[in-house]
Amino acid sequence: MSSSNKGPVIIITGTPGTGKTTHAELLAQESPVPLKHINVGEMVKQKNLYEAFDEEWQSYTVDEDKLLDELEPLASAGGIILDWHTCEIFPERWADLVVVLRCDHTKLWDRLEKRNYPLKKIQENNEAEIMEVVLDEARSSYPQEIVVELQSERTEDLESNIQRIMQWIEAWKEDRDLA
Ligand code: ADP
Repeated sequence: MSSSNKGPVIIITGTPGTGKTTHAELLAQESPVPLKHINVGEMVKQKNLYEAFDEEWQSYTVDEDKLLDELEPLASAGGIILDWHTCEIFPERWADLVVVLRCDHTKLWDRLEKRNYPLKKIQENNEAEIMEVVLDEARSSYPQEIVVELQSERTEDLESNIQRIMQWIEAWKEDRDLA
């Protein structure tokens, strides 16, 4: 999957509001190997990688081919965190670790309300979290052993999750150094 001097590709995914960006920013700061945080939703907007904007749902319909073309060289170079609310579109070969963040749905509701999402978008996301949609997607798209489900409800969770991912990175690095 990787040449020895290439950094890992870490996907951080989960229902909107579970804490992906918060985790990705902190991880990029603290990681023992250089990791560039890619907020995929922002990239889609900034680089016009969408087909349309859906007013009703207040969301972009992504042009998946364009998005994958944009990301391919970054994923090949490695050393990135892909932060997005869906993960199945990323080819299996890209991923070294897939972190799925989870949050109690009442807490998630409050977080999404603060974002001023339309009610039906809050409901849809809330339901998706209860139904474990993103977790199922991750488990069906990547090998079992690289998918990790982590709670993201409190600050303590954030800290322990980052510690855990950093331990994974250290082990990953050691494996490569020995190879
Ligand atoms: P996402 O990128 O998944 O949409 P964000 O990282 O933007 O989520 O987080 C949404 C909100 O929830 C932010 O206000 C953030 O501070 C808060 N939050 C995220 N994770 C945690 C956590 N583990 N503990 C407390 N607050 C959190």
